[in-house]
Amino acid sequence: MTLVMQPIRESSEALEQQVLNPLAARSAETRGRERPEALCSIRTAFQRDRDRILHSKAFRRLKHKTQMMIAPVGDHYRTRLTHSLEVSQVSRTVSRALRLNEDLTESIALAHDLGHPPFGHTGEHILDELSPTGFHHQEQGLRIVQVLEQLNLTQEVLDGMEGLTDSKPTFLTLEAQIVDVCDRMAYLHHDVEDARRAGLMQESDLPADIIQTLGHTRQERLDRMVLDIVTHSLEALNSDTPRIALSTEIQEAVMALRQWMFDHIYLAPNRLDQSSNVRRVITSLYEFYLSHPQAISGNLAPADADTYPHERRVLDYISGMTDRFALEAYQMYLLPSSNPGFSFTAGRVEVMP
Ligand code: MG
Repeated sequence: MTLVMQPIRESSEALEQQVLNPLAARSAETRGRERPEALCSIRTAFQRDRDRILHSKAFRRLKHKTQMMIAPVGDHYRTRLTHSLEVSQVSRTVSRALRLNEDLTESIALAHDLGHPPFGHTGEHILDELSPTGFHHQEQGLRIVQVLEQLNLTQEVLDGMEGLTDSKPTFLTLEAQIVDVCDRMAYLHHDVEDARRAGLMQESDLPADIIQTLGHTRQERLDRMVLDIVTHSLEALNSDTPRIALSTEIQEAVMALRQWMFDHIYLAPNRLDQSSNVRRVITSLYEFYLSHPQAISGNLAPADADTYPHERRVLDYISGMTDRFALEAYQMYLLPSSNPGFSFTAGRVEVMP
């Protein structure tokens, strides 16, 4: 008996044509990849991108990278990995509700933080100061998928990963807009919870007007935000300027919550003294690897990596590190063996001088 292969990808593409909103990105109409390649017989272009991202080394490293708590000891704190999964969940819910392309949304969400260095935004800020070329996690994310791991993703996913800049004020797709909005929803939502878990705040510290608008519990807040994005985007998709939108009321409350988190948690003095520890670790490692190229190990980059300026390799290497890899390298190369190195307490790491 001969088995006849059903054209599975083609029928998935036809299904997209039938059921998705006319404004959705369609995998059969992708702007394509940097290097042309044969189509998959089973998966659509965006499903394939999602799988490539999931199987990348950079994705696996997210599990030990800071989200908000530096090198957290407690297992329930978010890391970059669980943050990315939560962004993916919220974004997919919104995307499916709006009948936009859930596979593209998921790919962008899983990839959106691939370029984050160890120690979150503090690490990013210090690398940016140290490097003559500067450092930004979104540019690094693109460098990982285009150069270091050569995933050959579609233009639509790359566009979502790149984010918005002064020279690029809009996204190619509504799916990228969803991830952009849901990233902010997700991190505010879970950072409140993690800050509470770490004893940095109590639920009752949140200003009453924000609670009033967004909700009293974390479930209520996430539900309300998602429902708001879906209902207002449904309206906005039918307008002359189709876009992913929040109501003014929720948008303002979200901005107020964000500001409150900056003032009371992200930039609070007990976190700022953490940044001096992070500064010491990152700066010392940067100087060390600049003068000790042989210490850069592993198959970080493709074969032509030796042709990059050494400074670029150092930046790729350090930014690729997880929090714990960076701390271990610091202890191994830069502390005398008698120095215990670090002490961990919930959400904090003390670096011994
Ligand atoms: Mg994020």
